[in-house]
Amino acid sequence: MRRSIATVSMSGTLRQKLEAIAAARFDGFELFEPDFIAFNGSAKDLRSLAGDLGLGIDLYQPFRDFEGMPDDVFRRNLDRAERKFDVMQELGAPLMLVCSNTSPLSLNDAERSAAQLHELAERAARRNLRIGFEALAWGRWVKLYSQAWNIVERAAHPHLGLILDSFHTLSLQDDPAGIAKIPGDRIFFLQMADAPLMAMDVLQWARHHRNFPGQGQFDLENFFEQVLIAGYTGPLSLEIFNDVFRETPNRRTAVDAMRSLLYLESQVRGRLERARDGVPAESPPASLSTSPSPSSEVAASTLNHVSLFDPPDAQPLAGIAFLEFGVDEEGAQALGALLMQLGFARVGQHRSKAVTLYRQGEINLVINAQPGSEARARFDAQGASVCAIGLATADPMRAANRAAALLSARHDSPRGPNELQLPAIVAPGGTVVHFVPSVALSSAVLDADFVPEPPGSRGAVTTSGLKAIDHIALGLANDQFDTWMLFARAVLGLTPGESLELADPFGLIRSCGVANAERSLRLVLNVSLSQRTRTARQVSATGRAGGSVHHIALSCADIFETMATLRASGVRFVPISANYYDDLLARLPIAEATVRRMQSLDILCDRSGSGEYFHAYTESFDDRFFFEIVQRRDYDAYGATNAPARMASQAQADA
Ligand code: MG
Ligand code: MG
Repeated sequence: MRRSIATVSMSGTLRQKLEAIAAARFDGFELFEPDFIAFNGSAKDLRSLAGDLGLGIDLYQPFRDFEGMPDDVFRRNLDRAERKFDVMQELGAPLMLVCSNTSPLSLNDAERSAAQLHELAERAARRNLRIGFEALAWGRWVKLYSQAWNIVERAAHPHLGLILDSFHTLSLQDDPAGIAKIPGDRIFFLQMADAPLMAMDVLQWARHHRNFPGQGQFDLENFFEQVLIAGYTGPLSLEIFNDVFRETPNRRTAVDAMRSLLYLESQVRGRLERARDGVPAESPPASLSTSPSPSSEVAASTLNHVSLFDPPDAQPLAGIAFLEFGVDEEGAQALGALLMQLGFARVGQHRSKAVTLYRQGEINLVINAQPGSEARARFDAQGASVCAIGLATADPMRAANRAAALLSARHDSPRGPNELQLPAIVAPGGTVVHFVPSVALSSAVLDADFVPEPPGSRGAVTTSGLKAIDHIALGLANDQFDTWMLFARAVLGLTPGESLELADPFGLIRSCGVANAERSLRLVLNVSLSQRTRTARQVSATGRAGGSVHHIALSCADIFETMATLRASGVRFVPISANYYDDLLARLPIAEATVRRMQSLDILCDRSGSGEYFHAYTESFDDRFFFEIVQRRDYDAYGATNAPARMASQAQADA
């Protein structure tokens, strides 16, 4: 399909927007009229700029408050339209978007609206232009696509068609199933936008909080599938009004935009192929409005008339095979000492670099202080941090190929003789993601690059019972959240959980977990809306790159035993207020003796249904990141209710 994007979706001057759109390899764009009005050049200049960049001007938008007007206003509107047609002809823009009328002057008269749009289409036809009519969710009389289609049908002019916008349909919880019955050639344009579910005025929601497909909570796959079943073969476009995107570097926004379309196409291709082949859907419908799968015949004919992006299949990820920290020599000593206190053994020294491998249970942690390495460069730029993540998968090369197809940069690190080259990509913000053959194999894989330490010099005599990496939490700059959400879904195949707002003493933290189906891989995305929280300080310390691991949660089978061992070996934990434990007794049916034992070890607890989550937080390493010790049973979240207690305690320790 032809891929397009509205200029309103990006930051920058019009020229900068178009350069970013072209660099992300869009075919064309929707020209948002205010961008043209403020452009310091003529329509002809813009046409040649677009031409030089290889972009078509697919749509001119919006033309407002046109239809259903009293006769005198209608005549003035036609004059207004003729002037815009002049501009469109100079631009070479073939299609004008007319959005449904919001004016108090407009009349609730579909016949009148159809007649007036017919006249507009007739005028457009004389210049070989076309008109697309779109229902705005807050239109005065026309809010639904079915109402807009009714008027377009009545007008019955070949130069007048329907424009669909997923936001307007899904924000009103309207059922998109009826779209499949509209003749595809009567749909002139398709705009896609996702959004987080919010209980707010739809106009405010639309103007400030839309985002790209895969970044929000709408069922866009179902919507898009209905449009394709209708037989639509025109442009697939994005029209996003988002406060954060207005300030995000537009090259990144454009890549996110293209990634979102490639992902949407590939997901719907998968749905249609499964329907064609009679394979049951992978997951239950995302929402009640999700339409049933099309018949095998309908799916087959739909696949025949459009070409949808077809990347390598998503590779199931088994978990985190290793984490690599970038530090200097001093940091390597200090972090190594902390890991040994945590019960890790120093199992190997890299063959050619100042890199040490620590292990406990299935957890592999690599400390890299090699001068001149990327890990070291990252330390120099932002202090001690996780610079690389190893993700276990059955087919690493395919996982990297899918990521590259979905526009992640590949990463090739320098390697010495006999060292393993793992396929790798760069995650948003610069963290390197290596794909490793599988969790079970990863130890063997890592061993290939490391000279084993003799057992006597490994450090830890007994482990503390830590088994696996339960989750890692990332502290992200505000403009990285949507980027990461899409990356996690599209590239890593993870599914988001509930999005929460947590109270730090100095501001709110927005937090959302993403995980694989088996829950063996969990990431938590945290954004500080305030500049004054610890999370924000850690993010800003990472500079322009923005975003890094802010804690690492390690699981154990018996947290009381593990915590006793860790405290005995000198690990320092964030102290929790006695009031927390008194409140816990009031809130949850837990035995007092258990609570007092938790209190003595600074262990926190959360419950959900029959599930239970015990956890504790170490003090920060270098004010950069900390470890969380967790024990979970039938529990699918991250103890968010306790995060404020932790953040308050950290803040009081800082004060
Ligand atoms: Mg729209
Ligand atoms: Mg956590």
